[in-house]
Amino acid sequence: MNVKRNVLLNPGPATTTDTVKAAQLVPDICPREREFGDLMRTFGNDLLRVVHADSAEWTTVLFCGSGTIAMDACVSSLVPADGKLLIINNGAYSVRAAEMARAYGVPHIDLTFPVDGLPDLAVIEDTLKEHPEITAVYTTHQETGTGILNPVREIGALAHAHGAVCIADTISTFAMIPIDAAEMNIDVCMSSAQKGIQGMTGLSFVLARKAVLDAAAHYPVRSYYTNLVMQYEGFEKTGEMRFTPPVQTVYAAKRALAEYFAEGETKKWARHTRVIDAIHEGLSALGLEEAIPREIQSGLVVAVRYPDDPHFDFTHVHDYCYARGFTIYPGKMQTTRTFRLCALGAIDASDIGAFFRVFEEALKV
Ligand SMILES: *Cc1c(COP(=O)(O)O)cnc(C)c1O
Repeated sequence: MNVKRNVLLNPGPATTTDTVKAAQLVPDICPREREFGDLMRTFGNDLLRVVHADSAEWTTVLFCGSGTIAMDACVSSLVPADGKLLIINNGAYSVRAAEMARAYGVPHIDLTFPVDGLPDLAVIEDTLKEHPEITAVYTTHQETGTGILNPVREIGALAHAHGAVCIADTISTFAMIPIDAAEMNIDVCMSSAQKGIQGMTGLSFVLARKAVLDAAAHYPVRSYYTNLVMQYEGFEKTGEMRFTPPVQTVYAAKRALAEYFAEGETKKWARHTRVIDAIHEGLSALGLEEAIPREIQSGLVVAVRYPDDPHFDFTHVHDYCYARGFTIYPGKMQTTRTFRLCALGAIDASDIGAFFRVFEEALKV
């Protein structure tokens, strides 16, 4: 296949392999065919293996949409009328979850912390103690805007100690950072095909304990299109997605997941680590500063402070790199001027070496 290869250093969609791109070229098929339903069922079960979840107790619910649709499904569907959602908010993606809770009138507490640090577990514990009506705790594994990795295991343990379920937005860590859902005290997690599995955009998934979905069958339906239980029950009854699935994207995702298992959890994480190490090295060689201390970084995203140079122009640097096949991405921190470099996708350390040669030129011209 002769498609130009771009190195995407943005936080998804990620660089894909040619074989994943090619997997979209399939004979036309009506997604109502049993063959396609079987493909989606197998794909959903295989996704459970990524987080080592037992398919007897867990299920995957697929949605046609970007990653935000999975967040929407969880926030709108998993809180009973007399319960409350505790949102651990230390970044732009948790802000989005809180906006959803407001939009849907979901009873919730928006527990905010500074965006450049970890949430305070003692404050979370106190909040759970003070509010026995909390039935679910929502946290973002990696706040992709800053690259901070949140302590999901500890947050999940606190949730469980207070009788609440733990919902984790693992959209930007799934199939990259090794995750064992049960060991990390996660009851519901999610991702999207264009991130860790290195597929195409348009397919997202919620992985949940069946017991959580069974309980949610009695919760208010606040959204028709994105209700998690209706989507789950619809598929269980008919073997079809409730509404038209992104057919070609599903074929690409299936191929991408096969490549994930062929590479292997440990080797893939080692590759992402090589990439981020090369990014750290390149940045320090140029004297550029990172906005977040290394100890709390995910190892997948680096927020870089703008250089201390009055002539620095992000758009110019971006355009110079983009024209040469490298995409860098603006930051998402309101108080600090940053851009981001990410280690997602089918790339390796050699791509980062090539990137920094171009980036260094871009800073000079
Ligand atoms: C990418 C991402 C999402 C979803 O974003 P979309 O643009 O809707 O795909 C949600 N949460 C996190 C943490 C993400 O990184």
